[in-house]
Amino acid sequence: MRDNAPMPIQNSTTDAVLAEPDFSGELSNQLLNWFDQHGRHDLPWQQPRTAYRVWLSEIMLQQTQVATVIPYFQRFVQQFPDVQSLAAAPQDDVLALWAGLGYYARARNLHKAAQLVVRQHSGEFPRVVEELEALPGIGRSTAAAITAQAYGVRAAILDGNVKRVLARMYAVPGWPGESAVAKTLWHHAETLTPDKRLADYTQAIMDLGATVCTRTKPRCLRCPWQSHCVASQAGQPELYPGKKPKKARPQKAVQMLVVLNERGELLLEKRPPTGIWGGLWCLPEAAVSIAPDDAAGQLGLQAEFQRALPTVPHAFSHYDLDIEPKQLTLKSIVAVQEADQRWLPLQQPSQWPGLPAPVKKLLQALRQSEHPAGEN
Ligand code: SF4
Repeated sequence: MRDNAPMPIQNSTTDAVLAEPDFSGELSNQLLNWFDQHGRHDLPWQQPRTAYRVWLSEIMLQQTQVATVIPYFQRFVQQFPDVQSLAAAPQDDVLALWAGLGYYARARNLHKAAQLVVRQHSGEFPRVVEELEALPGIGRSTAAAITAQAYGVRAAILDGNVKRVLARMYAVPGWPGESAVAKTLWHHAETLTPDKRLADYTQAIMDLGATVCTRTKPRCLRCPWQSHCVASQAGQPELYPGKKPKKARPQKAVQMLVVLNERGELLLEKRPPTGIWGGLWCLPEAAVSIAPDDAAGQLGLQAEFQRALPTVPHAFSHYDLDIEPKQLTLKSIVAVQEADQRWLPLQQPSQWPGLPAPVKKLLQALRQSEHPAGEN
């Protein structure tokens, strides 16, 4: 790593962020020089770069690649060349032109926003980021992109591509969807944004993310920021940005029937050969919503519910299971026993077959509670 390259930034305190060396002027110049040679200068919304056209392109690009957006953009501006014509159109016509781009809430918001611009702003898109943000479908980054590109106002953007670039440049740990991480990235975005050539800088950093600092296999050797990029210097650009944390593990519960006969034997069932605990012997299972006596009835037993035993938690690789054991006393057997059912003496663990660990644990506890001096 270059001696004066920026160090990894903690994302929890503003003080740590503010302590970083300031290379912003150097970095923005490097990026603008790169943009002059390698950036995209002939996108249809760049000629002319009006607020209406930039806004339209930004909304279309929110979930969609540039190559897909271009023909939609061209058809759209042909039919609706300005915000007035869009505002006056029936919504069905707007949606028809949008068909195929997906995420139709974007089109509905676009139409509503056009009507508000006409009604509340005399057909002129506001130049103030906060006023743009008040329009439907326009977030902070989109508002900044519009004002910077259409009006040359100094405003930082932070779309998905820029988040990736900055997370790598400063090795910002964590998922950008977390507010502390986003705050750090916004800080870097604002610090890097220059005072001049705002439209070009905004397009440049978007282009860098889209064409060089790609999600996989970034082309670091072609990147104007490579000598400052912490993640690249460490040889691990693809570690950033951090992934979205996995969802909470599913929680499941099952009832297990501990049916004891008059000889102190309990009923076990052999599980199917595949699936969880395949082929092991186990207590009969039932959904937690079924009354224990009814569940025993489904096994061909008449049994009386005695008590609920302590729940046994168990973690599988993909979910957590709460085993809710219910103790019952057998009254009579009303159906012929299946070959995959057997009665086992609770007090003689040496005769127990292979049992799943949590079932074995709960039977050992039950055995101790019933006859503390039984066989060891
Ligand atoms: S050096 Fe590589 S990882 Fe760093 S910003 Fe450039 S392309 Fe992205």
